Amino acid sequence: MSSLDPHLQDVYDRVLARNPGEDEFHQAVMEVLESLGPVLDQHPEYADGAVLERLCEPERQIMFRVPWTDDEGRVQVNRGYRVEFSSALGPYKGGLRFDPSVDLGIVKFLGFEQTFKNALTGLQMGAGKGGADFDPKGRSDAEVMRFCQSFMTELYRHIGEQTDVPAGDIGVGQREIGYLFGQYKRITNRYESGVITGKGLDWGGSEARTEATGYGLVIFTAEMLKADGDSLEGKRVVVSGSGNVAVYAIEKVQQLGGTVVACSDSSGYVVDEKGIDVEVLKQVKQVRRERIEAYVDARGGDARFVADRPVWEVPCDIALPCATQNELDVDGARSLVENGCQLVAEGANMPTTPEAFDVLAEAGVRFAPGKAANAGGVATSGLEMQQNASFEAWTFHDTEQRLTEIMRGIHERCLTAAEDHGSPGDYVVGANIAGFVTVADTMLA
Ligand code: GLU
Repeated sequence: MSSLDPHLQDVYDRVLARNPGEDEFHQAVMEVLESLGPVLDQHPEYADGAVLERLCEPERQIMFRVPWTDDEGRVQVNRGYRVEFSSALGPYKGGLRFDPSVDLGIVKFLGFEQTFKNALTGLQMGAGKGGADFDPKGRSDAEVMRFCQSFMTELYRHIGEQTDVPAGDIGVGQREIGYLFGQYKRITNRYESGVITGKGLDWGGSEARTEATGYGLVIFTAEMLKADGDSLEGKRVVVSGSGNVAVYAIEKVQQLGGTVVACSDSSGYVVDEKGIDVEVLKQVKQVRRERIEAYVDARGGDARFVADRPVWEVPCDIALPCATQNELDVDGARSLVENGCQLVAEGANMPTTPEAFDVLAEAGVRFAPGKAANAGGVATSGLEMQQNASFEAWTFHDTEQRLTEIMRGIHERCLTAAEDHGSPGDYVVGANIAGFVTVADTMLA
């Protein structure tokens, strides 16, 4: 942890005092504050206007009880959250996460990150995040539906297409979005498509939304390589995770000439030197909802499974952490460096620990933070909202083209901000400063 200037330290101390025990939130705030010294030097009005203090305190935090009945007829109780972080740039916007690890601190860290990410897209989206400590794994469709209906029975009063627009995140895919949207429609008697994104194509969803986070991540990575006169052609890539972000990151890497040799889930990883077969992976993880080990039999050939080991030990040129927060630790970073990895781009939100980041930075590994590199998902949610507002449905090609332009714009914005503030080529500094300045200027205006 580097030392902060006194104003930033004061902001951080207050965050610690006001949000005890919320480690991930503290970590996310520190990662941003560490970048902002040069901006405050140039713009004292940000300190005078208490912009940072305001940005670190969500506008509204909602917590609620979610009772639902399981298939045995027992009543279960979970806790639901929606943290509405910032409405400076537009309606609160960000996903819902259903995972046993969800608590207020996790939702706040995600909402805080979302503020900068959404600003970087250049679209009119504020920031929020929500979810529940509900574990959809092993639950029947009917249980998931009853949970989603109960969750929305409280959430509906807080959201709206001009107010707060949720979407998916870990544990919330198109199935859950359907149950949530259906319940919203019943309760309000309004077909308000723009109230939630990540919908199915027949009911207001956007082409390329499912693919957007993974595709956007790889488009961003390709831009980084291009800036160094390089490309994805012939690169060996390792991806962590095998959920929605990972699957479409793998697909895009292979479209652009790279080979993804490994991917993982919480039980271990698979190595497939010929390149992960995305169709087989989708079948195993999305259709059959099985553990990653099942890929080996389904794929045949030389693919192999390694249990309970980190995927970072597989040698690669590029690593894309696409699973969850703090999944890439010091040991993982050391393995990557020892094996010659040149670039890490975050598909998940804050997957790299601060200590692992230091190891990568020390070794000169190029690094893209999630708030820039994984912004393609929420950006395409913004495109979905645009289509809903105008009752249009764009083609896949058209939507992907816009996503590509947005990712290139974010890349450019990061490099320019880094250059202008004395850290040329530093995407972390660039993303934090570019995102911050957009929100801060709007708040002051
Ligand atoms: N959950 C995604 C993210 O972390 C997408 C949010 C959205 O589409 O609103 O950015």
